[in-house]
Amino acid sequence: MLGTNPFDDDHLHEECGVFGIYGHDDAAAHAALGLHALQHRGQEAAGIVTFDGKHFHNHRALGLVSDNFGDGKVIQNLKGYAAIGHNRYSTTGETVLRNVQPLFADFESGGFAIGHNGNLTNARALRRQLVHRGCLFQSTTDTEVIVHLVATSLYSTVIDRLIDALKQVEGAYSLIALTNESLIGVRDPHGVRPLVIGELDGAHILASESCALDIIGATFIRNVEAGEIVIINEDGLHSIRPFLKRPQRFCIFEYIYFARPDSIVEGTDVYETRKRIGAELARECHVDADVVIPVPDSGVPAAIGYAAEAGLPFELGIIRNHYVGRTFIEPRDQIRHLGVKLKHNANARLIDGKRVVLIDDSIVRGTTSTKIVEMVRQAGAKEVHMRIASPPTTHSCFYGVDTPERDELLAAQHSLDEMARLIKVDSLAYLSIDGLYRAMGEAGRNSETPQYCDACFSGDYPIRLADQEDGESTAQLSLLAELG
Ligand code: AMP
Repeated sequence: MLGTNPFDDDHLHEECGVFGIYGHDDAAAHAALGLHALQHRGQEAAGIVTFDGKHFHNHRALGLVSDNFGDGKVIQNLKGYAAIGHNRYSTTGETVLRNVQPLFADFESGGFAIGHNGNLTNARALRRQLVHRGCLFQSTTDTEVIVHLVATSLYSTVIDRLIDALKQVEGAYSLIALTNESLIGVRDPHGVRPLVIGELDGAHILASESCALDIIGATFIRNVEAGEIVIINEDGLHSIRPFLKRPQRFCIFEYIYFARPDSIVEGTDVYETRKRIGAELARECHVDADVVIPVPDSGVPAAIGYAAEAGLPFELGIIRNHYVGRTFIEPRDQIRHLGVKLKHNANARLIDGKRVVLIDDSIVRGTTSTKIVEMVRQAGAKEVHMRIASPPTTHSCFYGVDTPERDELLAAQHSLDEMARLIKVDSLAYLSIDGLYRAMGEAGRNSETPQYCDACFSGDYPIRLADQEDGESTAQLSLLAELG
């Protein structure tokens, strides 16, 4: 399998959380806390690499941050004043330790550790070329492509080698790297994935979201900009912009689902945005009802906004058990179904005899909605109206949010009426794409130059999908094969 399709035993696209700190005595402990705050971005595995001025130390393990880094001994062994960490998220069946990041390599110049949030769209083609040149891959992550490009670059300094490598890759990436000298942060030229800079006791911090700064009491400084490389070392923070300027296309789905609601992402408050999305949804898709109930947790802020705008009571009519991972993360269909049952319970006292508006952020395969609607009906709802706080998810993401192939996306395969019948609701309505942009503070979607990457809703992919165009099989295909 590895010989024919190197990424088949795992997937190469993943939404993840990254964290880095330079210049703090407790680097590893802070990295563990930062990763814990970013746990929502990936729950399958976590890793931390530290540098103590002489040696690198690392600990990588499958499972949650608290399970793997809660033990003081593990943190004690991760000595050093600099650390980077990574949370991994994937939906494929197999997550193997060799794929857990940060990846680490020994170069002539010293150690090089790297963690990646995003997805490279020409990784397969590059990997094939590198293998042809004799590179021996240790993992099936697209991140390792960057490691080999850095290793084989003809430039002399690590920074020049990294720039050389990144000029060859396409796709979405927010990276953190740690060398003997520096902590490095990079965002791709379109700035698809987030990365922020913070400060604590004179130490610099890089993190996927501001909530990872809050947990350690660090101050938010600014975002790493699209196409920017920040280099942090004993001389402070330096910034370079070696790439051609590109239109910025930050992922709009971060606001809808992925980012934590207490984060400020790209200068925008995620929680307030979700409430505005809910209000916009209420204006666009009115329905006579008695109560607004969110699908927790992702539907909660939008439901608050919806209820306020519609003048309806908001009730937590569905309770989520927080000790079960995100449903979607479960790799196999039957487990996904079981996951939804394990995860939610309806409070019949709030639902019985009522006309209910259910709010969720999105429908992917329809598994969650189908189960929740059934549950709400069993709890005695008179009518169930589903309102979705995003436009229909009709296209797969190739930039780091794992979505299935189009033929598994409910909205790509069915009309609105068909979906309503399948989910068994009295009515179903989605937010329009212009409504979404209005909630983001824009006049609407500018189809010439959209301000965000909204490919999952529009099919407008801002970055070339080279591996796809070359007929390379995709990670989603490998996932399908596994499910099949
Ligand atoms: P599904 O059950 O397949 O329709 O998935 C929809 C549910 O998964 C919604 O409740 C969303 O909150 C959540 N969701 C949407 N996109 C993702 C994603 N990329 N990863 C994990 N969960 C997601």
